[in-house]
Amino acid sequence: MRYKNLIDMHTHSDNSPDGSHSVTFICESAERRGLRGLALTDHCECEEYAARRFDISVRNSYFESVKAQSIYSGRLIIMAGVELGQPSQNPEAASGVLSQYDFDFVLASLHNLAGQKDFYYMDYKKSEPREILGLYFSELYELAAGCDYDVLAHLDYPLRYITGRDGIQVDLREYYDKIDRVLRAVIERGKGIEVNTSGYRHPLGRSMPGEEIVRRYHELGGVYITTGSDAHTGADVGRGLAAGMDIIYAAGFRHTALYKKRSPILIPIESDTNP
Ligand SMILES: [Zn+2]
Ligand SMILES: [Zn+2]
Repeated sequence: MRYKNLIDMHTHSDNSPDGSHSVTFICESAERRGLRGLALTDHCECEEYAARRFDISVRNSYFESVKAQSIYSGRLIIMAGVELGQPSQNPEAASGVLSQYDFDFVLASLHNLAGQKDFYYMDYKKSEPREILGLYFSELYELAAGCDYDVLAHLDYPLRYITGRDGIQVDLREYYDKIDRVLRAVIERGKGIEVNTSGYRHPLGRSMPGEEIVRRYHELGGVYITTGSDAHTGADVGRGLAAGMDIIYAAGFRHTALYKKRSPILIPIESDTNP
């Protein structure tokens, strides 16, 4: 389907260690692609907050996003956001960042287990991926139930590497109890989940999470859902959002969410074909 009012709720500028382009260029890319808006959600990896000087990069990201809001006013909805990685592993850093800036939108992520490296750096052919995934969903529950955030990012993130890169097939049904616990915590707290479309441009070949978990979230009573490309370059801004919207719509949702000053605003899903 062709959707109106697409909003990319997960993008990175060069204020992220692995980002390539300026906030201006990311916004220009969104406008060129006909998006209605975007959230700048640069990384803040909480357990490495001091060591990697996220204090500086988060400040720059926030400052540039707020500037862009006024420059693009009336043309593009811009949200000043952050992707808080592992807030449960350094709650002081997480709450410090959130009290310092008046963010519109806060994504929370779990890129590594406590005391371990990013899932990206693990070799799943030499380790026990099923066990790692179990630990991941347990720790994700702690984060979902206990941390301050708006939307939980890429819910089955380790599969990007376990299956997408290392080719190990995992039956997620093994983890449905754990995943349900995560989803229930999100719903009870009035938070949301995202459909992260970066998986479409990686070997995984699907969104994170995939269709079944999005459907389950809807069945359990989930309301707030966003789509995000997780772009780290201008070229990737908006990529896969329409496919993500297909999944959201098929799961039964008729609204997606954007956030202003950390309050969700539901916007109806409109396309060229639906009534
Ligand atoms: Zn992430
Ligand atoms: Zn990201």
